[in-house]
Amino acid sequence: MYTNALVLFSGGQDSTTCLAWALERYRHVETIGFDYGQRHRVELECRTTVLAQLRDSFPQWSERLGQDHVLDLSLLGQISDTALTQSKAIELQSSGLPNTFVPARNLMFLTFAAALAYRRGLTVLVGGMCETDYSGYPDCRDNTLKAMQVALSLGLDAPMVIETPLMWLDKAATWAMAQTLGGETLVQLIKAQTHTCYMGDRSRLHDWGYGCGECPACALRQAGYAEFILEK
Ligand code: ZN
Repeated sequence: MYTNALVLFSGGQDSTTCLAWALERYRHVETIGFDYGQRHRVELECRTTVLAQLRDSFPQWSERLGQDHVLDLSLLGQISDTALTQSKAIELQSSGLPNTFVPARNLMFLTFAAALAYRRGLTVLVGGMCETDYSGYPDCRDNTLKAMQVALSLGLDAPMVIETPLMWLDKAATWAMAQTLGGETLVQLIKAQTHTCYMGDRSRLHDWGYGCGECPACALRQAGYAEFILEK
């Protein structure tokens, strides 16, 4: 049983829930974030707030929560032409994928995370990838991540386990998982402090959190929250 993990932590709802999951499960947890020239810096700012509030509100997790690492992956903004890195409208492309898809982003994130984990002596990578309520990104699929786990473990000649606790959960179940892990305190923290909106909108507060309320990320978050409240 592995006792330490590195969580891919963006400051969004999914990765915050994954971080709480990891803090329940592992004795030592570090976090990694990527600055890749996102159009909206707000996501990176949310990371810091979420980490501070997790430490304040959950003393049992605070002692397990180790270093936070932010890597500069600005080259991703140079090589991709997407609605997340350029100023353009979100639309569906001929491939069937929305232009919020940053090709190979997760593959690069995982590779850099694994290199850092190797240096830090961490054996588990935790990511919020999900194949249930998702935008169809092929690098979020379970088989892609299983293949990456094998490639990284072989390439590093060291075990590198990829855990994806949200893989088969819908957004309502992700809210419910947060409730189970950290009760109403965690649900409120996720609502108020995490950022999911593709438009970077933090001017409008809804019952499910901040966002424009119209982009695909807001739509998923909103629908999931409504279902979660109904089932509660
Ligand atoms: Zn939005």
